[in-house]
Amino acid sequence: MPEGDTVWNTARVLHRALAGAALTGSDFRVPQLATTDLTGWTVRESASRGKHLLLRLAAPEERSDVRHWTLHSHLRMDGAWRAYAPGERWGARPAHLIRVVLRAPSAVAVGYHLHELALLPTAEEESLVGHLGPDLLGPDWDAAEAVRRLAAHPEATIGEALLDQRNLAGVGNLYKCEVLFLRGVSPWTPLGAVPDLAGTVALAQRLLAANRGRWTQSTTGSLHRGRTSYVYGRRAQPCRRCGTAIRKEELGERVTYWCPRCQPGPDPAQSPDPTQP
Ligand SMILES: [Zn+2]
Repeated sequence: MPEGDTVWNTARVLHRALAGAALTGSDFRVPQLATTDLTGWTVRESASRGKHLLLRLAAPEERSDVRHWTLHSHLRMDGAWRAYAPGERWGARPAHLIRVVLRAPSAVAVGYHLHELALLPTAEEESLVGHLGPDLLGPDWDAAEAVRRLAAHPEATIGEALLDQRNLAGVGNLYKCEVLFLRGVSPWTPLGAVPDLAGTVALAQRLLAANRGRWTQSTTGSLHRGRTSYVYGRRAQPCRRCGTAIRKEELGERVTYWCPRCQPGPDPAQSPDPTQP
């Protein structure tokens, strides 16, 4: 699940593969950029902002009035970038999912099933990411501002508000479910009734930061398959703390997982208890 840490890792992979390199070729397989050719452009750096990827480029002087450009992409649920060595087989995903190929002398970056692919002047990046709240993994992370934005909507459920990237940027469904379990808060709790919003925000930041630099996302401390989460993806399995069956329900546009015993509070009345026949 691409969340802020996955996007941060991806930005680092692209930075290591491409930063400082002059591109020797590009191949865009999306209609809006089909005629774009970045041959001769230099990759300045790769960065992430919440779940958005920003590959910053310099155009050749003779090619454009604007020198600095940003290739923006978003992974959503299923996108990925991979860096391959020249000549290496591109095996990460099926070829029909390729949306862009960037060739450099020492690496080839391939973007699969990318969303919101756009090339725009770097000076205009804010038009795509300016609405985002503080970035949990950004150099300018501002916990107090994230808490302020959350607290401005006391009636919203904490489960939905943590996913709203305008409040804080980087939390996806996995971290949302896990943070609320660890804090003992029902996902349906209105923000105004969450006892320690600052503590919840701080924990979210710590969990994402702990998973930087590796691809296995774990909130339990274990990297063993099947043991990396407390509640996420564990419907009907026993809670690791109390043994109660973990539940799964729709909340807003997403599903949520929670332990009804460890996370007391509002509970969707229509939800049947999976432990009862
Ligand atoms: Zn429990």
